[in-house]
Amino acid sequence: MSEPVLQTTDLRRSFTQGDVTIEVLRGINLSVRPGEIVALLGPSGSGKSTLLQAVGLLEGGFDGSIRIGGREAASLDNDARTDLRRDMLGFVYQFHHLLPDFDALENVLLPQLIFGTEPDAARTRARDLLTSLGLGNRLDHRPAKLSGGEQQRVAVARALANRPPLVLADEPTGNLDEHTADIVFAEFLSLVRSEGSAALVATHNERIAAKMDRVLRLHEGVLE
Ligand code: ADP
Ligand code: MG
Repeated sequence: MSEPVLQTTDLRRSFTQGDVTIEVLRGINLSVRPGEIVALLGPSGSGKSTLLQAVGLLEGGFDGSIRIGGREAASLDNDARTDLRRDMLGFVYQFHHLLPDFDALENVLLPQLIFGTEPDAARTRARDLLTSLGLGNRLDHRPAKLSGGEQQRVAVARALANRPPLVLADEPTGNLDEHTADIVFAEFLSLVRSEGSAALVATHNERIAAKMDRVLRLHEGVLE
C-alpha cells in the first residue's frame, strides 16, 4: 500500500458570527490514495467548499491534521505551505477564474512558468492539454470569447498543467447546463485518469458522484 496523497484526521472548522458559532466540519477523517478519484457528495451548505478550502491550504482556522503527500500541513509556516500547495495541488473551481486578459494557451502556460518549467516545454504541454480537451483551435481565444464549457476546459487544463498528484475540484461543472456538464465532466475524469493524478471532487449531483471511484457523503459535518 502506498502512502495516501491526502489524509485528514479529526478535521474541524467552525465559523463564529456575533455570539453564534456554526460547526461546519465536525471531525472529518478521510484518505485519498494516489490516482484515486473520490467524490465529496453533499447538499448545498453541507460544507463541501469549506472542506476543500481547508485541505487546499487556502486558509487556516481549522483544527486537526491534514497530511498531503505525507507532510503535516498544519505545522508548516506560510512559505512552506505555499510550496506544498504548488508542488502537490491543482484546483478547479465552479467558476473558472481564468485571467481575462490572457488567451487560453497563456492561461495554461503561466502557472507552469511560475512553477519553473522551461518555456518551450511549458508551451508544448499547454497546447497538448488544450488539444486533448478539444480546444486545439481555440488556443488564442481569451476567456470572453469562449463558451462556458470551453472556459471550464481551460480551467481543467490549467489545474493539471504542473502534474499535481492531487486535484481539488469544487463543483467543476456546476455552472454548466446538464448536457455540457456531462461532456466536460467525462473529459475531466478521463484526463485526470490518463495523467494519473488523484482527485477530490465536490458535487451535489448523485449522478456525477457515481462516475467516480468512491463516494464520500458529507452530512451534518461528518462523513458517513
Ligand atoms: P457547500 O460548499 O457544501 O455548499 P459551504 O462549505 O460553502 O457548503 O458552507 C457550509 C456552511 O458554512 C454554510 O452554512 C455557510 O453559510 C457556512 N460558511 C462557509 N463559509 C463561511 C464563512 N467564511 N463565514 C461564515 N460562515 C461560513
Ligand atoms: Mg460549495
